[in-house]
Amino acid sequence: MDVRARLQSIAEATRARTAGIRITDRVLKMRAAMASSPGQVGKPNEDFVGAVPGAAVLLDGAGIPGTEAICRHGVAWYTHRLGASLLGRLSRDRGLDLAMALAESIEQVAREHRGTCDITNPSSPQSTVAMIRFDEDRADFLVLADSFVVLDQPETGPHVVADPREIAVRRECSAVLHGLPGGTPEYDRARLSAIEALRARRNQPDGYWIAKEDPHAATHAVTGSISLASLVGAALLSNGASRIVDPYGLATWPAVLELMRTSGPSEIIQRVRGAEDAALSADTQPDVRPPDDATAAYCEAG
Ligand SMILES: [Zn+2]
Repeated sequence: MDVRARLQSIAEATRARTAGIRITDRVLKMRAAMASSPGQVGKPNEDFVGAVPGAAVLLDGAGIPGTEAICRHGVAWYTHRLGASLLGRLSRDRGLDLAMALAESIEQVAREHRGTCDITNPSSPQSTVAMIRFDEDRADFLVLADSFVVLDQPETGPHVVADPREIAVRRECSAVLHGLPGGTPEYDRARLSAIEALRARRNQPDGYWIAKEDPHAATHAVTGSISLASLVGAALLSNGASRIVDPYGLATWPAVLELMRTSGPSEIIQRVRGAEDAALSADTQPDVRPPDDATAAYCEAG
């Protein structure tokens, strides 16, 4: 067999072996900058952020009082296990549907502590989810509960992907507190009933959905895809970091993206912390709230 025939034979054998397998020589490219800060000194940061080539994940664990008695691991453990599982899946299987990846990871982490913890309790560890993944020609995104993906589209302006159901349900449930003076028995009773009402609507069709023990929640996530032709990058923010826009009004979404690109995500968190410090010391704003874990990331495509 001459050289030409041998080469042809090898090529045919290779074609037969790889039939049905997508061959690509593309290089996955994404530049990611991330920052995260705990809301309170000495308490674990219950946010998680991480990236693999082409994809990033941000989670915000819900710090519900009493969770420690329900799950021996805690909220920070939950978000870090779920985040690590998601990143592993997104890295291993580039074509995996984002909602499917989330469902599988929720189930995996549920398995890890189903035997030791009361994971079906409405107050067991739970987390919001924000994900972005860049492919050859498009970006896929997913948001579940109160976190944000902000698509950076210079020509048309930012597209904010949010899941408003958690905030809407919280607002409805806490309406019973309006007008009641704090520290009174009436207020305390109303607060307990508001907490119960919120628990009853968690991961329920008439309520809101959040990553917990039920993989079904992933099917309720806000998802979509966008062409890379109009996109330069995407920002991910926990609601501790998005305070820079609402409620503090320190920046618009276009300004947030500009800050992310020029100064990095840590600048967002520093400005939020500055506003929180000022509000706490002045104690004049009606919506003064304690500092929350704050996490932000900016992922540049290509
Ligand atoms: Zn547990």
